Amino acid sequence: MAKSKEIKKRKISFPHMGTISYAWSAALRIIGCEPYIEPYTSKKALSLGTKHAPEAICLPYKLILGNFIEAIEGGADYVAMITSPGCCRLGEYGKCIANALSDLGYEAKYLELQLYDGIKGLYNFLKDASGKNNPVLFSRAILIAILKVFVLDKLESLHSYYRARELKQGDSEKHYKKALKIIDENDTVLGLKKANKQIVEEMKLVEINPDKEVLNVDITGEIYVVNDEFSNQGIEKELGRMGVQVRRSLTVSSFLKDAIIPKIFRKGETHLQRADRLAKPYLMRDIGGDALECVSDVAYANERGIDGIIHLSPFTCMPEIMSQNIFPSMREDCEIPILPLILDEQTGRAGYITRIEAFVDLMRRRKRKLKMQKNEQNSKEVTAVSK
Ligand code: SF4
Repeated sequence: MAKSKEIKKRKISFPHMGTISYAWSAALRIIGCEPYIEPYTSKKALSLGTKHAPEAICLPYKLILGNFIEAIEGGADYVAMITSPGCCRLGEYGKCIANALSDLGYEAKYLELQLYDGIKGLYNFLKDASGKNNPVLFSRAILIAILKVFVLDKLESLHSYYRARELKQGDSEKHYKKALKIIDENDTVLGLKKANKQIVEEMKLVEINPDKEVLNVDITGEIYVVNDEFSNQGIEKELGRMGVQVRRSLTVSSFLKDAIIPKIFRKGETHLQRADRLAKPYLMRDIGGDALECVSDVAYANERGIDGIIHLSPFTCMPEIMSQNIFPSMREDCEIPILPLILDEQTGRAGYITRIEAFVDLMRRRKRKLKMQKNEQNSKEVTAVSK
């Protein structure tokens, strides 16, 4: 009698970046692998990564390495890393991390996802991860992962709206966590369609003051630190507490529209297309990372007349050093207040929060002043017409 073989599922881990684990874990489940989700990035991951990374390398590298070490020690037998060609260090990260893990004696296998190969890159990655070649299964996995990213980003925007207006501090966070669970439990197109509506209903349960005068701020910068709440020290939460509604300029869904989703399925102008249009007077070409997008985000925020923009940059990130040096020259055309913040493992929390509070204070005073000026202008016009 043939012995029944128990096939061991491959346990695969990805580094964290915001809520991205909900999307890739769904794709891995669909292709028959076991996603291993290591604890969210923490001081432990940071100190593990810092200990085994070159000192001057950028912060995301250290955190990703820390994630991998925790994942392998927790039982993952594969670690997967995104990579891309281009001018910044991301192109070198993969090899450096694989070498660092092997030098440390870890035997976990290393997988790479070529980001800029679009759907083909995702397909090849799923082939390597599963050891199979199943186009139907892989197409489903890619579709579900992409749909999840869009629903997750929509949830972030809802959370930001409610958090800035909530009557009881922490209420929005409570419902956000429930909504995340709804997204996590749905791995089908129909399920996600329903989840898309359910998360709106869930967030509507937050008691708010709809008339509260909130400030509107965009957050731009290097995509990892914009989306990762550990490295940006929960900046959105802090701003929400101060009555500020945040809009992330760099999201995973906007990145997917530019790099992964085929043109025929895209609607409207993508982030990169807008970057090409708006960054041009200040930065003529892509210099790597997200610099082109960041420069254009300042112009875009200014064009929309919002209250301010915060730029987040990891210490030693070359493209963002460049964009932060372009902002002063943009001030001639853009009136919008800009707060550049540099993040690394030495960033002290107290000083960081003080800078954010001072910026919020500045934006609030500016908003009131502009409102008063507008009222005065209106009353002058009324007087002139009635004479
Ligand atoms: S964009 Fe900056 S932080 Fe990100 S990988 Fe490149 S150099 Fe490092």
